[in-house]
Amino acid sequence: MKHILVVEDEPQMRQGLIDNLAFEGYEVSSAEDGQDGLTKVRSGSFDLVLLDVMLPRMSGFDVCRTARSEGIATPIIMLTAKGEEIDRVLGLELGADDYVTKPFSLRELMARIKAVLRRPSYTNSADAEDVQIGRLTINFRAQRAHEEGTAVELTHREFEVLLYLYERAGTVVSREQLLEDVWGYDNLPTTRTIDNFILKLRQKIEFDPPHPRHILTAHGVGYKYII
Ligand code: CA
Repeated sequence: MKHILVVEDEPQMRQGLIDNLAFEGYEVSSAEDGQDGLTKVRSGSFDLVLLDVMLPRMSGFDVCRTARSEGIATPIIMLTAKGEEIDRVLGLELGADDYVTKPFSLRELMARIKAVLRRPSYTNSADAEDVQIGRLTINFRAQRAHEEGTAVELTHREFEVLLYLYERAGTVVSREQLLEDVWGYDNLPTTRTIDNFILKLRQKIEFDPPHPRHILTAHGVGYKYII
């Protein structure tokens, strides 16, 4: 189930969004101000964030900008009020994926959410399609990787795991999370399989695989990707 974070200070609006998203089958969490919102975004446990612009303690713009500057790539849809319409360029500079202007229809919002969730994930800076991960330059969309111009073979699952870790940069991802979200219930490997998998992945991306600097081990828990 996709998990959405609603960051909105207006109680009625917040509750309305929570109820409707839950009705649509999403798992929903909420925050009432920008700082709490940012703390929750940093937890890395959301598939999408609905982020109001005018918030107490920290504006939605600052939450978005800060999250992106920390390498957090969780999709963000900004909720803007009339008169504070952000243009596409500003949205992209901030690193937001989309925005809707209040008052919006629920149908419109749900359509935007679905569209953003369907998008292959990648960061939103202008030339965002290539990202540098250790030795490799990676295009997740095209599922291509190269090292200084030489193509490097990664399996589909390797791209998936890397993207999953990359999107949650700076936060610990448990083996259970990887099992559930990347391998899926149908095809459950053991946690040992995951560890071996990560060892192989390190051989491909790390400059010094025995001393990884990007995919770190969180002992007893899982892994953490550092940019
Ligand atoms: Ca507000």
